Amino acid sequence: MIERRTTIPFSEARQIVTEHVEQLKPVSAGLFLARGRVLAESIYAPFPSPYFRRSGYDGFAICAEDDHDFPITLDVVAEIPCGATYNKRLNPGEAVRIMTGAKVPEGADKIIMLEQSQTTEKSNEIRLINTQPSSNITEIGTEFQKGDLLLEKGHQLNAGSLSLLASFGITEVKVWSKPKVAILSTGSELVAAGEKLPDGKIYNSNEPLLVSLAEEYGAEVVYHEALSDDYEVTLTRLREIAGKVDLILTTGGVSVGDFDFMAEIAKHEAQLLFNKIQMRPGSPTTAMIFEDTLLIALSGNPGACFTGFHLFAEPVIRKFSGEASSIVEVRGVMARDYLKNNGYDRFLRGKANFSEGKYQVEPIGSDMSSALGNLPFANCLIMIPRGKVGKAIGEEVRVWLLSSKL
Ligand code: AMP
Ligand code: MG
Repeated sequence: MIERRTTIPFSEARQIVTEHVEQLKPVSAGLFLARGRVLAESIYAPFPSPYFRRSGYDGFAICAEDDHDFPITLDVVAEIPCGATYNKRLNPGEAVRIMTGAKVPEGADKIIMLEQSQTTEKSNEIRLINTQPSSNITEIGTEFQKGDLLLEKGHQLNAGSLSLLASFGITEVKVWSKPKVAILSTGSELVAAGEKLPDGKIYNSNEPLLVSLAEEYGAEVVYHEALSDDYEVTLTRLREIAGKVDLILTTGGVSVGDFDFMAEIAKHEAQLLFNKIQMRPGSPTTAMIFEDTLLIALSGNPGACFTGFHLFAEPVIRKFSGEASSIVEVRGVMARDYLKNNGYDRFLRGKANFSEGKYQVEPIGSDMSSALGNLPFANCLIMIPRGKVGKAIGEEVRVWLLSSKL
């Protein structure tokens, strides 16, 4: 007899899985490993920048007293390459040869560009022929005062952020931990790409899909493997992995067929959260707490797996890192008809295009849950609510923008 499952709306399923997530503790990350990580603390300037007066040009530092009636001739009392300092006070009548970025000596008020200078017969003398209104000196704290906010908590570190931190000598920052995720594809029909394909088998496309999506949305994938349809094999492996990761994502085996062992495990070996959602594709998507670890069992069909990841796994991964889902819901307008009816809400893989102040959306490729030709191109999920008719061109729909594709 076919089992009857209790169905819940997709929004409730989403809420249930995210309710079982607690934000992970922050960790310290070294600068070179911190790219892409999200700051768990705000970072303030530990000192002003620049912290000494810097020369904006290659040229000569002079005192304000000499800054008139050009050309003038001054004694060159020192040469300051970048990184060196002249530790005496500059006096009127004196000039210091200085390089771009070098520390301007005390008493100096202006830099005359090298191009505005001429040598004389005396090697310790320089003739400065012209001046400019600007001092050509970058004063202390021009860019940041001590204590200024450099990067706010929640900022995702990029190359520019790392250079900003390095410019203040910061080598370690607190970032949110990435959740550790295990990805298990179940199905005796699965063969890894690169291997020979025996008749009747199929290549495992969900594994690279989920590994890539999980990493893209901020998880650390610590296991990814395929399991044959075998209750004991699956259970044993789950027991080995649970507790070592924050989230287990599986695909396949959630329907009511003879070999749908994930469905059996959810009922007999775990705390079942739900096993039927009022949505297509992916209505048998299941969630459970397996030995204290949240497990989301996605349908094996690639289209359903793609949709289920974005609706249920992405918000979970983000919440572990203290962030809201990056898949934003917007209102869209159908750019063409989709008139199929359904008893469940249907999520279509689509293309959203922002024009004339609205998201024009249209389904792309096949709406079959087994179809994956549209996975490289879909940048949104379009919801066609359950009902007798679909949605006609010009009608409003709920749309989720897939941030990784925008
Ligand atoms: P299941 O959810 O196990 O009933 O699988 C539904 C359909 O998706 C079947 O046609 C499977 O062969 C297919 N499928 C399951 N797992 C994968 C996978 N990892 N990659 C591609 N297709 C899969
Ligand atoms: Mg299967």
